[in-house]
Amino acid sequence: MMYLKVAIPRPLDRLFDYEYSEDDHGVISLGDWVAVPFGRSRLVGCVVEIKHDKPTLPEGVKLKAVTEKISSDFSLPSELVQICKFGAEYYQYPIGEAFFSAMPPSPEKELGTRKVKSKEIKVKEINLNDEQRLVVNTVEEKLALGSNPVFLLEGITGSGKTEVYIELAKKRLSEGKSVLILVPEIALTAQLRDRFENSLGNPVALWHSALAEGLRQVQWKKIKTGEIKVVIGARSAVFAPMKNLGLIVVDEEHDQTYKQEERFRYQARDIAVYRAHLQKIPIILGSATPSLESIQRVKEGRYVHLRLNRRFSGQMLPEIKLISLSEEMLVINEKVKTPFAEKTVQIMQETIDRGEQVIVFLNRRGFSQFILCQDCGWIKECPQCSITLTHYQRKNELRCHVCGYHQHVPSDCEQCHSHELRGMGFGTESLEEELQLMLPDAKILRLDRDQITSQKRLEETLDDFRSGKSNILIGTQMLVKGHDFAKVTCVVVVSSDMLLKWPDFRASERALQTLTQVSGRAGRAELPGQVLIQGFDLDHTVIKVLQGEQSHESFIEEELLMRKELNYPPFSRFVRFRFQGKNESVLRKKVESIIERVLGESENDRSRMMGPSEALLFRANHEYRFDFYYKAPTIDALMKLSKKLKSMAEFEEIELIVDVDPYTS
Ligand SMILES: [Zn+2]
Ligand SMILES: [Zn+2]
Repeated sequence: MMYLKVAIPRPLDRLFDYEYSEDDHGVISLGDWVAVPFGRSRLVGCVVEIKHDKPTLPEGVKLKAVTEKISSDFSLPSELVQICKFGAEYYQYPIGEAFFSAMPPSPEKELGTRKVKSKEIKVKEINLNDEQRLVVNTVEEKLALGSNPVFLLEGITGSGKTEVYIELAKKRLSEGKSVLILVPEIALTAQLRDRFENSLGNPVALWHSALAEGLRQVQWKKIKTGEIKVVIGARSAVFAPMKNLGLIVVDEEHDQTYKQEERFRYQARDIAVYRAHLQKIPIILGSATPSLESIQRVKEGRYVHLRLNRRFSGQMLPEIKLISLSEEMLVINEKVKTPFAEKTVQIMQETIDRGEQVIVFLNRRGFSQFILCQDCGWIKECPQCSITLTHYQRKNELRCHVCGYHQHVPSDCEQCHSHELRGMGFGTESLEEELQLMLPDAKILRLDRDQITSQKRLEETLDDFRSGKSNILIGTQMLVKGHDFAKVTCVVVVSSDMLLKWPDFRASERALQTLTQVSGRAGRAELPGQVLIQGFDLDHTVIKVLQGEQSHESFIEEELLMRKELNYPPFSRFVRFRFQGKNESVLRKKVESIIERVLGESENDRSRMMGPSEALLFRANHEYRFDFYYKAPTIDALMKLSKKLKSMAEFEEIELIVDVDPYTS
């Protein structure tokens, strides 16, 4: 008789014991799927541990037996078992449910044999420039020495990182190994697949959560058997069952879409680094604007830094024009000031008249309100957290959504004493209306998450714009990622303040990453491009770096110094505990008493704890939310506090969502 620990798809932080007879059901291995009795139902779970000694169970609990072993075609490779275990523990998520991320669609039954069309691949040679060649050689030299470090490939927009990935992938394929490539948006995978297929002469599978189940199952098997050796996918592809994996690439490693924001809140880049380490293979993290987390690893000597400083195609970088919203005249529509300067609209009109196209970019998260000085761009920050205070109109209050600090709205600007303090915050929909009034003849398209509900819809909108049927595309973060539009020569950033002052300690880092990407969209082809940045505070370091007036390195030094002083990542593990409940006052009382106890019991760590505070989105889905943050010095400290809070929340019967390394506020 054998004893198994099985991961069961139930929201519980533990594995379950079952006995298993190989005589009855056949040989069992880690990663196999088994049917087990659970309460009154039958569930399918994954075998995570196999033991020969009978486990000790609490008195009165009887060990149940596995009822069936499921066909082994869909067994998880043992490294995936390991990765899911690690992920569940680190991200504090029920282990059985974490396994669903790596699970083939329905391990129990075949979902039909959908044929995957095979198409002809035209192999194209690529020629690397000296810089790219040097990067490839450096990687190969390290590998030849038998070391498998994490490489951070920092390359400016258009410097040809993809060609480097392709060249390295080619080498691994020639050694009979497989390659996994992660990209931030599914919208990008189809474009990239063609490039990889045509350069490698090898079929490439796409992997993302929007694939139809039947197709996903067929692909899963082909990947596992090694029939498919190259996979390109969004974050969930980090769990692809690659056979004989020889290289992982994480493109745009800084991108926040690698973080899953619901249920199993893992960070795919970080899981990928863990996977590479576990499987002893090289991993390349690529970006034009690497995350401070990765840069700090380079400084600590843990990652190898590689650079591409020249544009591959020899194109010019776009011209950056700053448009001060406190100095320029604003367009007035129906007696109301719009967020557009007259100068901006004039340049847009000229661009359209030349038969070229315009992209209007607005920060995705338009719901945050803050008070800004219309004369100098000053915004009040939290004295403790270095985070912008959010404006609450109802109480006429400014609040820190992290630590809970609050104050009355000041009557004048603390910097220039102007009385022109006003609220900011608008969405893409109202922008579209305003723009249509200003440019009545322009054809305007809008691209944001409310409107683009499917992959098909997204591709249609992008194709429409590419074909030149419309003049202006308004969009959020979604459109700045790698899409090439040959006729776009003008990019308008509606409000740099909304990026720079987002209430998050990462606001500056993010703003620089986003603005760099947005700028990369202007003038990709033979036409020169310009980027118009509108804003009140145009003296900001990030703007200076973008203009080339300050070096990227000095910006990084400044940011790292601030992070270190305030114990933010990369100098700590950041975790958010979110308490939720339907009754505001009951929830508030319970949370306050829990946190009071926790603070009382953690003398040494108190300065690393923030809150409780009302979440930025205090009420969502009929529930109220209070946040408590912890800047943990170690993973152990994080686990310890997490376990404690979980048990306290359970006792008080309130919902607690733990988010390790959260990205959104
Ligand atoms: Zn001012
Ligand atoms: Zn604060």
